Amino acid sequence: MSDCLVIGGGIIGMMSARMLSMSGAKVTLLDQRECGRESSWAGGGIISPLYPWQYDDLTNELSFESQAIYEALCDDLHHSSGVDPQYQKSGLLMMDEFETPEAKAWMERYQINYKNHTDGALFPQVASIRNPRLLQALKLDILKRGVKIVEHTQVDGLIEKSCKVLGVRTQKGDFFTDNVITCAGAWSGELLDIQDSIFPVKGQMILLKAKVRDVKHIVLDQGRYIIPRADGRILIGSTMEDVGFDRSTDRLTKASLHEFVSERFPALSSVKVEHHWSGFRPASRSGKIMLGRSKKYDNLFINTGHFRNGLNMAPASAHRITKLVNE
Ligand SMILES: Cc1cc2nc3c(=O)[nH]c(=O)nc-3n(C[C@H](O)[C@H](O)[C@H](O)COP(=O)(O)OP(=O)(O)OC[C@H]3O[C@@H](n4cnc5c(N)ncnc54)[C@H](O)[C@@H]3O)c2cc1C
Repeated sequence: MSDCLVIGGGIIGMMSARMLSMSGAKVTLLDQRECGRESSWAGGGIISPLYPWQYDDLTNELSFESQAIYEALCDDLHHSSGVDPQYQKSGLLMMDEFETPEAKAWMERYQINYKNHTDGALFPQVASIRNPRLLQALKLDILKRGVKIVEHTQVDGLIEKSCKVLGVRTQKGDFFTDNVITCAGAWSGELLDIQDSIFPVKGQMILLKAKVRDVKHIVLDQGRYIIPRADGRILIGSTMEDVGFDRSTDRLTKASLHEFVSERFPALSSVKVEHHWSGFRPASRSGKIMLGRSKKYDNLFINTGHFRNGLNMAPASAHRITKLVNE
């Protein structure tokens, strides 16, 4: 049984830890804060890229592979943890112009159909999950599986010898292992000294506590979206800000997101914003996910750069990285 050390307890790290543990590895997961409190918590939980035809083949493959197993995965996690990730196939209503040549080619290639709707095109197969709940469920599940979680422990660097990584350095001491899997999200750039490849893109979101179930589907229009939760709450997102690790939120964005939803659902204009937050998407300069073995160290793996689609792609990314580690 090999030892694996996963750096980062977001959706990517915890899902990877789960798969590695299921494949027989002894897994330790380190997080500099608490697991599931960064981008994976801040995200919207749509289980699909927003405009899938704008992404490369790998993103589409990982998305489809994940979508095929998400519902069953949520059932398993619910069963094992007692926390329901609230997977719901509410469909996505696209209000934008969608009959572009790229969109048409994508729909033809992947055999995707939509239904005509008075306000646009409805993609009924699109689901969402309530990500904070999914993360809670995942954490409880991996603990049950014997993954050792060490929180509030920042990895400062790798301990290397020739073409191997022996472990990692932290302020709480060194951790030695057979394999290191880096899933540090937007911080992967700093950690691996590849800031020119991975960087944070801030997104702000708001949450309304609506009494009426006005919003039936996920709504997408002009790059912004509205996501209904099972309890009537509604999320509205989001911004794309290249401002480094600045967590601040601002009143203008809050007002503009509220206006966005009010224009489409006037009844929501009088509903107070319950919560307003930001998160850091792990973006890559190449626009591609970084999923593979390091060129320098053959027991160092990287699983990051999922940008706007990490919640969506996490299960399939975890499968792929586990396969590589076990090769
Ligand atoms: C506003 C917003 C909306 C989004 N909406 C969606 C959506 O609807 N659907 C979708 O699929 N995706 C969405 N995303 C994107 C998605 O949230 C991310 O792609 C995904 O969460 C990335 O997961 P991760 O595990 O790589 O990163 P994170 O969740 O950020 O986790 C990284 C972890 O690594 C830890 N860490 C970092 N450095 C170190 C270190 N040196 N030592 C130890 N630990 C470390 C951090 O503390 C953190 O817990 C959204 C993101 C945002 C911000």
